[in-house]
This record gives sequence, C-alpha cells and structure tokens, in this order.
Amino acid sequence: MSNTLILGAGMAGYGAAKKFKEAGVDAQVFEKENYYGGHCASFSFDNKWIFDDGPHISFTKSDNVRKVFAENVADDYYEFEATVDNYWKGQWIKHPAQINLHGLNPELNTQILTEMIACKYEENKDIRNYRDWLYASYGKTFAENFPMKYTRKFHTTEAENMSTDWLGPRLYKPDLSEVIYGMLSPATQDVHYIKGFRYPNNGGYVSFMSGIEKTYPVNYQQELTAINLKDKTATFNNQTKVQFDHVFSSLPLVDLIHRIENCPAEIKNAVNKLAWTKCVLVNFGVKRNPISPAHWRYVYDEDFYSTRLSFPGMFGPGNVPPGCSSVQVEIYFSDKYKPLTRSPEDFIPIIKDELIKLGILRINDEILIEKAWLSPFAQIVFDHDRKENVDLLHGFLMENDIHFGGRFADWNYAWSDESYLRGYNEAEKILGKI
Ligand SMILES: Cc1cc2nc3c(=O)[nH]c(=O)nc-3n(C[C@H](O)[C@H](O)[C@H](O)COP(=O)(O)OP(=O)(O)OC[C@H]3O[C@@H](n4cnc5c(N)ncnc54)[C@H](O)[C@@H]3O)c2cc1C
Repeated sequence: MSNTLILGAGMAGYGAAKKFKEAGVDAQVFEKENYYGGHCASFSFDNKWIFDDGPHISFTKSDNVRKVFAENVADDYYEFEATVDNYWKGQWIKHPAQINLHGLNPELNTQILTEMIACKYEENKDIRNYRDWLYASYGKTFAENFPMKYTRKFHTTEAENMSTDWLGPRLYKPDLSEVIYGMLSPATQDVHYIKGFRYPNNGGYVSFMSGIEKTYPVNYQQELTAINLKDKTATFNNQTKVQFDHVFSSLPLVDLIHRIENCPAEIKNAVNKLAWTKCVLVNFGVKRNPISPAHWRYVYDEDFYSTRLSFPGMFGPGNVPPGCSSVQVEIYFSDKYKPLTRSPEDFIPIIKDELIKLGILRINDEILIEKAWLSPFAQIVFDHDRKENVDLLHGFLMENDIHFGGRFADWNYAWSDESYLRGYNEAEKILGKI
C-alpha cells in the first residue's frame, strides 16, 4: 500500500482521482474550500440563480473528456453556437473586430487597411514581445485601437511586457479579403476559433465534474499549510500531519512553493517574480429576458471597468428562473501590475451604472439579485519573467518528486479539459512508481 495525496479538488484533482480510482489505488483528496470544483465551481443563490466562478463552457475536442463530462450529467446538457461581440468607442462590433470593421470611421479604416496590406509584404520581422507580434500581424493602428487596449484591461499590463508563447489560435489572423469584406459589409461569416459549446442543463458548469464524488471522499476545509519534502509530510490547517509516499498537487504554483518548509532562497526569489491576474466578478439577476443578443461581449473602452460580460442564462437555461436573465461581469487586477484597492462589493453600483450605459440594464429594471466576489487566481500573465522562473520552480518540484498539474500548477492557460487531462496523465506517471 502506498499513501498518495491529491491536493485540490478542482478539475486537475478530479482527473488524478479518476485515474487512481480506475487503477484501484488508495488516495486521499484534500481541499481547502467546503466544495469541490476549484475554478470550475458553480454557486447557487436562493435556489434559483447559478453563477460560475467566471464564465465556463466546454468546447473540448478530447473524446475522453467529452465522454466523462456527458456521463456526469447523464447526457443532460445544452449545446449551442455562440454569438460574440465587442463594445468599442460607444458601438457594438461583431467579433472578431479585425474582420468586422464595417461602419467605422473611413479615415481609420483606410489607415488600418493600408497597414494590414503593408504587413503582408514585410519580411524578417523582429518579434520580441506581444506588441511586436500585434504590429506585425495587424499593423500599428488596429493593434493600438483594439487588442492593445484589451490587453491592458484583461492582462493588466502593456503588450510590450508580454511574450507570445500563450497565443496559439487565440487571435484570428485573417486574409486581406476577409478584412476588406468586413469593412464593406456587415454580413460576415462566423470565424471564432471555438465552435460548438456544451453546458449542463442543471447545476452549472461544475456538474460536468460531479463524478469526483464517486472517486474518494474529499477532505473539505483542509488547507495545506506546510509541506516537508525531506520527511514527506503534509500539514493541513496547521494541525493534521499526514505522511505521504506520493503527492499530486493542483495548487497554484505560488501557493505550493510558499508552503514548502526550508525552501531555498533561489526558489523563493523565483516565485516572487510571477504575475497573475485576479478577477472581481459582479453578478446581477434581472426580471427581464433577453437582455443581450450575444452570449458574451468584450468591452474595449478603458473608461469602463467591465472587461468581459457573459450571460449565464444563455449558457444554460437552468441558471435563471423563467422569464429572467443574468449577467456576469469580469474586472481584472494583478498585484504586480494593477493592484486591487477596493472590495468586490464596492463594484456593484459602479458596474450597474456601466451596464446601463452599455445598454444591457435599464434604469427601471427589477434587479432580483446582485452578488460580487473575488477569484484570487484568474489568468497567468505571460510576462517576460514567466518562463525562466516557472522552469526553475517546476524543475525544483520534479527533483523533489512532487507531481503537479492543472492551470495554476503548470502556470499556463489550460482550459478545464486540459486541466483534467493533466491530472489524469500525471496520476498515470505516479502509478508507474507505486
Ligand atoms: C475567467 C475564467 C474563465 C474560464 N473559462 C473556461 C471555459 O469557458 N472553458 C474551459 O474549459 N475552461 C475555462 N477556464 C479554465 C478553467 O477554469 C481551468 O482550466 C480549471 O478550472 C483549472 O482547474 P485546476 O484543477 O487546475 O485548478 P483549480 O480549479 O484552481 O483547482 C485547485 C484547487 O485547489 C484548492 N486549493 C488551493 N489552495 C489550497 C491549499 N492550500 N490546500 C488545499 N486546497 C487548496 C482550490 O480551492 C481548488 O479547488 C476559465 C478560467 C477562468 C479564470
């Protein structure tokens, strides 16, 4: 018998638990909250309204994950194509903006088009950061008017401070013909990199991982407070000490490292250089339906705190009472670049006012619920300090036989399916040692 610990009951912890259970190995799961789900948690209010911890929908291409998610909701999920748009200088523009510039100022569009044409013929571009990448891909005018504005709001820093190793298919690079067509016509094709979405009909996004309850009993409200790599002991809530042979951690890298006893100075120094965003989520439930034509909406204008708006009642009809709608607003901060100086609740009246200006709420709307909270880990900031320091920290954990995986343990941009698979695959590696 071997004593195997799983730290964290989010998607990655679930993936690890599923693999260990399938292999018939005993494992213990420890979770600091009194619920499972981590960032995939869903919160129910008055038994009527469900808001996730930030907007979540499944678009996994993995057959394995699709099967697991579908089984966990007994195939009872809602499937939809998403409509997405952007608020820019007082008007709504279809997403992505680069191929939907119809109706904007002709001088601006001429400048954008001229630069986009020039971009196509420039060779040997020296790309040192995300700003260079944006200039080279779209030209200076489009880059500065659109993605660089959004970057300041979403990543909380300048594009110049960021690398490009997180981009993948996230930003659409159109052909010139698509740009021209989108300037001339409002009727463009949908090209969002994600197509079909799934969302549980009941219980919010977390229902996709309800199978965690069939793995091992979760030890709730057990926060890892210290871990000793030499003695192989983990201490929870400063009291219970557990001896382990193997451990899988899905804890945010910074939290795990801060809990390691006798951690070398070089490692502590590296962890202090990492940047990540935290997200204030402001939620409203309204007695009116619909309140939005789009499933989610990006707000570029920097005089609005609101960064992304999503509409939980459009993801899953079970998220709102009949005849009602809900909206969730994300606002981003980071200790390194844009510290949060107010409480989440302070944003409720501010965001309500913004939603009225954006034309989503009306002054006489009956607001049936309003809630705000902070998600302390949201997006990893891919600044120039990230790679070198993350490599060092991961190397240190591996040398000390600590297995890890998931969005904040890997310190990357993983979606929920990727986090689940990281846990599952890392558990497989541990099984090879048992
Ligand atoms: C705003 C936002 C929107 C997103 N939208 C989508 C989407 O649409 N689709 C999608 O697929 N993915 C989405 N994601 C990504 C998805 O949320 C993550 O990939 C996934 O939830 C990460 O799971 P995890 O287990 O790696 O980490 P977490 O969910 O953070 O799990 C870690 C767990 O560890 C626990 N923990 C932390 N510290 C301790 C401690 N000291 N002791 C014990 N337990 C501890 C936490 O409470 C948590 O339960 C989104 C993420 C964000 C931020």
